Parts: sequence; C-alpha cells; structure tokens
Amino acid sequence: RYDPAYNVCTAGGPKGIFLTVIECLRWRRAMLMTGSQYEESLRKLNLVVYLFGERIENVVDHPLIRPSMNAVALTYDLAHCPQHTEIMTATSHLTGRRINRFTHIHQSTDDLVKKSKMGRLLGSLTGCCFQRCVGMDALNALSITTHDLDARRKTDYHRRFLKFLEYVQENDLTCDGAMTDPKGDRSLAPHAQADPDLYLRVVERRTDGIIVRGAKAHQTGAVNSHAIIVMPTIAMREADRDYAVAFALPSDAPGITYILGRQSCDTRKLEGATFDRGNLFFGGHEALVVFDDVFVPWERVFLCGEHEFAGGLVEQFASYHRQSYACKVGVGDVLIGAAQTAAEHNGVAKASHIRDKIIEMNHLNETLYCGCIACAAEGHREASGTYMVDTLLANVHKQNVTRFPYEIARLAQDIAGGLLVTLPSEKDLKAPETGRWLEKYCRGRADVPAEHRMRILRLIENLTLGAAAVGYLTESMHGAGSPQAQRVMIARGVNMKEKQAAAKRLCG
Ligand code: SF4
Ligand code: FE
Repeated sequence: RYDPAYNVCTAGGPKGIFLTVIECLRWRRAMLMTGSQYEESLRKLNLVVYLFGERIENVVDHPLIRPSMNAVALTYDLAHCPQHTEIMTATSHLTGRRINRFTHIHQSTDDLVKKSKMGRLLGSLTGCCFQRCVGMDALNALSITTHDLDARRKTDYHRRFLKFLEYVQENDLTCDGAMTDPKGDRSLAPHAQADPDLYLRVVERRTDGIIVRGAKAHQTGAVNSHAIIVMPTIAMREADRDYAVAFALPSDAPGITYILGRQSCDTRKLEGATFDRGNLFFGGHEALVVFDDVFVPWERVFLCGEHEFAGGLVEQFASYHRQSYACKVGVGDVLIGAAQTAAEHNGVAKASHIRDKIIEMNHLNETLYCGCIACAAEGHREASGTYMVDTLLANVHKQNVTRFPYEIARLAQDIAGGLLVTLPSEKDLKAPETGRWLEKYCRGRADVPAEHRMRILRLIENLTLGAAAVGYLTESMHGAGSPQAQRVMIARGVNMKEKQAAAKRLCG
C-alpha cells in the first residue's frame, strides 16, 4: 500500500517484534483488523463508483483512489503498533473487547482527549484527511439521540442502534457518516424545495422497512467505507417529518451510486510520477452519494419521522466533528516541517524573519491544538452514558480551523518562494537533456541535491494548492459546517447575562 520503509512504528527491530508478540497475545480477543485485512475487506464490496463519466470496476487499486485507501488503512495498522495502542484503541463498553478507537463510544473525558490526540497523530503521519472520523462521530451522536428519543417516545431505536454498533465494533468497520444534503434553495425548508429530493427523504414506509431517496454531498472517504450512516442535515418541523430520517446500510446496498469529486492536481496521480504528487503515499477523497429508492430494513432505522430530534442529532454530530478537526493540527505539523526544511534548503533558516514566521506558524497550530484538547477535557456525560464534548469550545475550535490553516499556508508559501509554482516536472529532472540544468539551477544550498528541494516544494504545493489543500484549506473552511454555523453556536453557547452581571457588578 505504501512504502514499507515508511516505518510509522519506532519500536522496530527485535525489541519491537517482541513487543508486538506480547501485544498480540494480550489482545488475542481484540477485534482489530490490520491495514491489509481492511484492504481485502474492501475488495469484497460491490460498490457502484463513477469517475470521469465511467464506472470504476476495481475501486481499491484505482490510482486516484488508492492513496485515500492507504490513509484509512493506516488507522488499522497503527492500532497494532505498540507505541500507539493507548491512543488508537479502546475497550468496548458493550463487549469489553479491545477495539479500534474509531468504533468506540466515548466513556470518559479521557476518551475524548485521546480522540483529539489520535486526530493529530494521524494527520501528522498521513498529511491528509484519513476519513474515518465521520463514522465515529455519527456513532457517538446516534448513541445519545436514540437513547433520548426512546426515553421520551418509548420507541425502540437505541436497542437497534446498539445492535448495529456491536456489529461495527466486532468487524472493525469503517463507516461513512453522511449528513450533508444538496440543500437546493437555502431559503426553503426541505419539503418546500422545487425538487423534493434535494434533502434525503422517506418515500415509502413498508412493514419490513422504508424506501429512501435523495443524495448526500461531500462524503469524505465514502468509497473506502463498509457502511454508510445517514443522518438529517438541519433542524426540522412537522412538515419535514419525511426528511427526519437516520439509518445505516452496507455501503454497497442496491440503489446507492457514488460519483467521485475531482481534486486540484488529481491527475498527477495518473502520470506515473512519484514526487510530483507531493505526498507519495496518502490522500483523501469525497463523493456525491445518490440514493435511488434504496430499501432500509427497520432494524437499521434509528430515526423516522420524529422531526423534533433532528436538530439535536445534527448539533451533536457537528460538535463531535468540530472536535475531530484535531486532524488539521497534525497536517499543520507536516506543513510547518516542510516550510522549515525549505528554508534550510534555501540557506535562510537563520534569518530572523523566517524564524519569526515559523514561530507564528507553530503558535497558530498549537492554538488549534488547545481548542480540540479543551473541548474534550471539558466534556460531560449524557444520559446514555456517552461523553459529549463541550459544545461551545468545539465550535470555537472549528471556527479557528476555518482561519488558521489559511494563515499557516500563506506563511509556508512565503517561506517556500515562487519556485513552488514554477518548478519544472519530475520527468524534466529525470530527462537527460534537461536534468543537468535542473540539477544546476534548481539547487539552493550546494550540499542539498535539487531533487530534495523539489520534493519538499512539491509537498508544500500539495498541501496548500494541490489535492491535499482540499483537506487542509477548503475542508477546514466548510467541513463539519461552514464558519457561520459555528458563529451561530458560539452566540447560543455563551452566557451573555453572566458576563454583563460581572461587568455591572464591578462598576457599581
Ligand atoms: Fe477526519 Fe479531519 Fe478527514 Fe474530517 S477532515 S474525516 S476530521 S481527517
Ligand atoms: Fe471533513
């Protein structure tokens, strides 16, 4: 999947092997797939995936998709790495077995903090979106909503949900958490749209289940998922009750079609190039997922018509996913490391303004880290037993994520210099006619080969302009809700009366 020399586990060598054997014995009952087993499990799926107007028969090996599969595979491999097991695994509250943290329901604030640390760790190792958080966040949000719904309405959703959760944990599945509808005219409610399918809805209720129609947009990691968990995207009223629906399905259920999104510079992956791709191993993907009259059995339906619970479910998922943007701190680590290296290649690393820019990048990145740790540490227990992040702090964190990566990227481009966007290709470096010129004129410091300089610049290009900029920039802006969504939550979350009372008290 990726170069084995890329050794993410520093506990290598004989000691590492010994540790791994001990861990294996300790966790022989653990339900943990390896990256290879995950890859093989994807091969068994029969997904309907389209790209460039054609159906892709071999999804797993497609060069445009494979880097994203590699990133998810790392969430499996790292769970077996002794150095990272505390962060990457957890104990299931259902079965007591060791499971991948991505399938875990948070049982404490310590679990929430570890989730944030896991996001940073994986972001720094992949330099991209590793896609598996949306499913984790959907599971946790549903664990709260189905419990509360049953308590109020005497329904049976929580039992169904727990059965599904156990299935996910026992099989170590990757789930796509699907929330965002196409939404059509934003000024109109779901039922009032010119086309009623612009929000996913129930079109038929049967004795054995429901038929759903619609689409979910921007679905991160969709074709790398075993299951898809659908949730409503906004708070709803009585007239929208057909749109208030949550359920889970196998990702290859009949009637589901995936249309992959394009990314900037994506065809670099088709050129047979290596370092022109910037990131040699990993990437992300998004897809438009169409549900064309898809059958969902009742056992997998977790909300159906109880419109007053749609808003709460959206808020819970959104808050969890805003915490998940700890991933951008890890990607920021990569970009800062790349900028420092580019400065060293140019012989300017000691210049005071460069040092100050690197400090600023670190300051911004660690400020982001503060937010995702704080909202986790300030979490609380819900009635279901699930631990929920502090909603206000999670929204503040995500609001910072909509800004700071842009400034970090700007500083990285400032440090990298214009060659970042005028650099000839890898093929030109390797061609006999031009290679010697590039060796000579694309060099910075005499002791750094031109290729090293080109590689690090390509990585910065990838992170700030290319395919990974989807994850580091625009996804930072719009993923888990656009900036205004967080501002609404911040306005709602602060206690203004208390602040005013504090001020008035002091001035008499
Ligand atoms: Fe996870 Fe970040 Fe990707 Fe969202 S953007 S799925 S939080 S890695
Ligand atoms: Fe995202």
